Amino acid sequence: MKVAKTIAAVRAFVRRAARPVVLVPTMGALHHGHAALIRRARKLAGSDGCVVVSIFVNPTQFGPSEDFSKYPRTLASDQALCREAGADLIFHPDVSAMYASDASVFIDESRLSDGLCGASRPGHFRGVCTVVAKLFLIVQPEIAVFGQKDWQQLAVIRRMVRDLDFPVKIVGHPTVRESDGLATSSRNRYLTPEERLAAPGIYKALRTAAAAKTPAAVLRTATRALAAIPGARIDYVQLVDSETLEPVRNLKRSTTLATAVFLGRARLIDNIQIPPIIS
Ligand code: AMP
Repeated sequence: MKVAKTIAAVRAFVRRAARPVVLVPTMGALHHGHAALIRRARKLAGSDGCVVVSIFVNPTQFGPSEDFSKYPRTLASDQALCREAGADLIFHPDVSAMYASDASVFIDESRLSDGLCGASRPGHFRGVCTVVAKLFLIVQPEIAVFGQKDWQQLAVIRRMVRDLDFPVKIVGHPTVRESDGLATSSRNRYLTPEERLAAPGIYKALRTAAAAKTPAAVLRTATRALAAIPGARIDYVQLVDSETLEPVRNLKRSTTLATAVFLGRARLIDNIQIPPIIS
């Protein structure tokens, strides 16, 4: 496994690589959720193809009062995890390698990005789309793997790929959880022991609510259960069409119950897919 710091080094590596090239974009502080994505990428690439993991804490997707400077950076253990999971190349650029100081071109998805996390994190998906588009242009993968934990991100990236004709197949990987149901996240390390004990209540709330029979009942149940988690503050809880992310009035199509919850220093997101009720 190699580590490349520059765009030129990545380009030289993938030019010589056997296809398919499969990309897993990350911000590092890797955990077993990321490892599952990298193993999935390894399977998709086969033994001949090439798995590239990018590790880049992307400043343009953080708001001014968010945790960009405090975001955990754990390159040594990230490298070990990548090697074990079957990566061939880590792309770990400095901010200056990715953005000119006067960069002025960004990609704005203008429909799916407004609600959910986009409402509380203005500009977040502009940063995500821009960096993912740049990674696609640098690495030129045939396939890219993203986690379903970030459901809105996955939907926005699929839309960008569709609308801008990126020749990349997007693969969504199911959310990896701790044994108590908490979605694995780099931000879980912000939790105090008490908050960590309370945090599985988020997924429990989503699961309980997903069994309700109407959108109103789903939302009512979820809101009540989330509000009962000690120390939790709900940022949002919404039931949306899984593809368009529009709020729904019935459960006839696949829906996504998505939430973001503040617990101490951490803002945790999770979602559950609700299959259509066929009557
Ligand atoms: P991040 O480093 O948090 O930006 O995440 C990088 C990629 O890993 C994204 O596609 C995430 O959706 C995915 N990911 C993060 N946590 C999980 C998880 N618990 N299960 C599945 N995918 C995840």
